[in-house]
Amino acid sequence: MNLPNPFCMKKYWILLIVLTGGIQLLQAQPATPLRIIVLGAHPDDCESDAGGTAALFASMGHAVKFVSVTNGDAGHQSEGGGILAKRRFAEAQEAGKRLGVAYDVLDNHDGELVPSLPVRLQVIRKIREWNADLVIAPRPNDYHPDHRYTGVLVQDAAFMVGVPNVASDTPPLKKNPVFLYSQDNFKRPNPFRSDIAVDITSVYDQKVSALDAHQSQEYEWLPWIGHYSDQVPAGSADRIKWLAKHLAVTITSEVRLALEAGYGKQKAALVKHAEAFEICEYGTQPSAEEIKRLFPMVNGK
Ligand SMILES: [Zn+2]
Repeated sequence: MNLPNPFCMKKYWILLIVLTGGIQLLQAQPATPLRIIVLGAHPDDCESDAGGTAALFASMGHAVKFVSVTNGDAGHQSEGGGILAKRRFAEAQEAGKRLGVAYDVLDNHDGELVPSLPVRLQVIRKIREWNADLVIAPRPNDYHPDHRYTGVLVQDAAFMVGVPNVASDTPPLKKNPVFLYSQDNFKRPNPFRSDIAVDITSVYDQKVSALDAHQSQEYEWLPWIGHYSDQVPAGSADRIKWLAKHLAVTITSEVRLALEAGYGKQKAALVKHAEAFEICEYGTQPSAEEIKRLFPMVNGK
């Protein structure tokens, strides 16, 4: 009987491991990675609005960038200016690392954002440079002027990203992206419409961890301005547990319907955490097929 040479077998095993690794690598890296850019007013807004969806995209090999349109230099009760901006930049970088996304912070003052032409040009350049397929931003209905104007700035950029003579130092996009609004609870002049809902249950802890990186916000400023500083635990392990509970959002009946449309009734019933988006009337209007391509994680039917 001709027994296989053990050294020869070893060679085959190595080959098998290399091939399997290669296949896994191919699976992790989609043929054409999607390019997603999320814009928020402050360092921590992108995570709040789309942190779970971003983590899912990143884990599937798609490219995600967060952009904070202001530097966050006003969001604290006892710190401010350049020192706070520096602190918040470092927190944003840590949050980006925890989610696997790139994170840019524009050097505009917090609390003073207006939808000016210079900031519009900054936003146009960011969307172009990222060659975005998908742009996510807040609606211009919000209690905070910085949030509102971030919504307006992105709306103002939606057509201009394709106009060569505007911000002509940065090549225009060949294809207009799909623009989405992130979810909010504001009702006037019109409530949020849940067109697409993403099950983020599997990455909820990662979203919480990204927000935990924003210590100056989650454990200092927001509790102070919201009068709940006394609820924040002292130790880091207790804090993150508290934050997970504090950030949990009840899934509305509209979002549940959108989950059912994307995942089927049975799977949708099991979803504990979700993020929802509304398709903006500006930019490319996606077909049902295009939405499936742009949200490959929503395929549970
Ligand atoms: Zn904010």
